[in-house]
Amino acid sequence: MRDRWTTEGADVSVHGSDIRSDDARFGMTRDVGGRVGGTRVAGDPRIQGRGEVAARPDWDVVIAGAGPGGTSSAIRLAEAGVRVLVLEREIFPRFHIGESLLPAAELLVTDLGVDPDPNVFLFKRGAQFVCEETGRRQSFDFNEAMPGPQRHAWQVDRARFDTLLRDRAIEAGAEVRHGVRVDRVEFGADGVRVGTGGDRVCARYFIDATGQDRLLGKQMGTIRAYEQFGKAAVYTHYSQLSEATQQEFAPYNDIRIVSIPDGWLWAIPLTKNRLSVGLVTRRSGLRKKRLDDYIDHSPLFQRLLAGAHRHATELVGNFSFENTAPSGARFACVGDSACFIDPVFSSGVSLAIHRGLVVADRLLPALESGRESDPDLMQPMEASMKRGYDTFASLVYRFYNTRFVENLIYNAPDDGRLRSGVISVLAGDVFREDNDFQDMLLASRRHRKRAGGSIEAHEVPV
Ligand SMILES: Cc1cc2nc3c(=O)[nH]c(=O)nc-3n(C[C@H](O)[C@H](O)[C@H](O)COP(=O)(O)OP(=O)(O)OC[C@H]3O[C@@H](n4cnc5c(N)ncnc54)[C@H](O)[C@@H]3O)c2cc1C
Repeated sequence: MRDRWTTEGADVSVHGSDIRSDDARFGMTRDVGGRVGGTRVAGDPRIQGRGEVAARPDWDVVIAGAGPGGTSSAIRLAEAGVRVLVLEREIFPRFHIGESLLPAAELLVTDLGVDPDPNVFLFKRGAQFVCEETGRRQSFDFNEAMPGPQRHAWQVDRARFDTLLRDRAIEAGAEVRHGVRVDRVEFGADGVRVGTGGDRVCARYFIDATGQDRLLGKQMGTIRAYEQFGKAAVYTHYSQLSEATQQEFAPYNDIRIVSIPDGWLWAIPLTKNRLSVGLVTRRSGLRKKRLDDYIDHSPLFQRLLAGAHRHATELVGNFSFENTAPSGARFACVGDSACFIDPVFSSGVSLAIHRGLVVADRLLPALESGRESDPDLMQPMEASMKRGYDTFASLVYRFYNTRFVENLIYNAPDDGRLRSGVISVLAGDVFREDNDFQDMLLASRRHRKRAGGSIEAHEVPV
């Protein structure tokens, strides 16, 4: 028997008529997409399509993207017995930027059951801010944060880190298919159809973990750029570092954040005697040559990179944005596809893992009771995530647009609540409610908004 699916005026037929899903692994028999609590609102960008489908979905959850966001959700869901399919465009291992984690991510990685393999994870104590022009330096040790998450973090080789997470997802029971690009997602009353070239799979729920590709945000037109943050980055890896450079980073392996007038540079030590180096600017029109120009005139980088072997140089732009509809009926975005603020405080992977887990945690009981089509299912989670995003957005705004670096980084408070509050935020411990410094960041952001300040994201073509 064939059932009708109507999406945005197009009629598409799908096979199957069984509207009950008997899923032994998930330990229950349930109506597929039983419509509980789902209020449809005309023009609501969280709701796509208006078709009905009565096909038995092949999967409970399909996830596009096997970065840290997607695999975190996959691990948590698959461990609970949910039928999870992860579709990943690339073949792993593949290069990825985003190598400096925060203690918050360390806690979550431990939660996810990933063994910190010393070939992949390099101990990171904290961050060191450097201004070559003035010769100032200031170190932040995560040990000095408010009581909370673990007191150190990791620098990771993302190619192998992401592969480890992918392997954990498979071990947990998820199916991962590589070399499969999701190109379109259609939502109906009873399920989701995920298009991959000429093919498609059906699921009860879809998670967009496509990172900077922001699949659903582009499809729905809900991406807004953060105009006043970093605009572009140019970066590369160096290998075969000198003994002196290895000594300079050891034993703490702090990330170096080097201030320049229109942005900053990073130097991140990695396992296998590698160094990741990049430059971020808030100006438009960045070229790869800009990194070489800086390195050529920087005593710090000349020293660190003496005799090292340079790898390919990459350039990326327009990475700071928010998705104004990060979840809705039968879908949630996790990781960058929901929001990416700016790399300066290394928050991306931590927030991706955190969101990947909390989305899974809200979805699990909903799948069990057939409420996954509720467009407001993720709303309580969105409110708490917003606290984290707003905290980092306020910090990043201050980094680029105020004397914050001068006042609170280079002239950091010596001790006391303020210092530990600053370090807790730098450590990514942003979902707690007892940090005065964080409250101040959030209050000043609200104040700027009320005063009509231009901190909000603006619409840009994607
Ligand atoms: C210059 C720069 C420096 C950064 N530095 C740091 C840092 O030091 N620390 C930090 O924590 N974060 C950093 N980040 C951010 C970090 O890279 C991201 O936040 C993090 O990778 C987000 O994880 P994710 O799972 O959302 O996306 P990703 O890790 O990007 O994974 C998305 C996956 O989806 C796949 N995909 C994309 N489109 C499709 C599709 N249509 N179908 C199927 N698969 C698809 C991709 O191949 C990819 O594997 C940095 C970002 C930038 C731009």
